[in-house]
Amino acid sequence: MKSLGIRTLDKRGNVTIPKSFLKVHDIKKGDYFELWFENDALIIQKLPVNRCIFCGKTNDLLPVNISGKSICKTCFELLEVSKDN
Ligand SMILES: [Zn+2]
Repeated sequence: MKSLGIRTLDKRGNVTIPKSFLKVHDIKKGDYFELWFENDALIIQKLPVNRCIFCGKTNDLLPVNISGKSICKTCFELLEVSKDN
């Protein structure tokens, strides 16, 4: 596991995580995490998020599941339009 280096907590209680780290680990705005403290270590675990395989939206997902992936209503409608043309 690679360290993020030493981080400080700001006055609002936030810790900044480098963008490069977020990108490598596919962490996006709105993702959910569970945090707990164990043996003097803060453990942060990313919770699985169901998002559209095309645009990444987490809302308006259709109740279909394509190999464990989801698709939003907007992308589905775009696919339907392009299929007809
Ligand atoms: Zn979409």
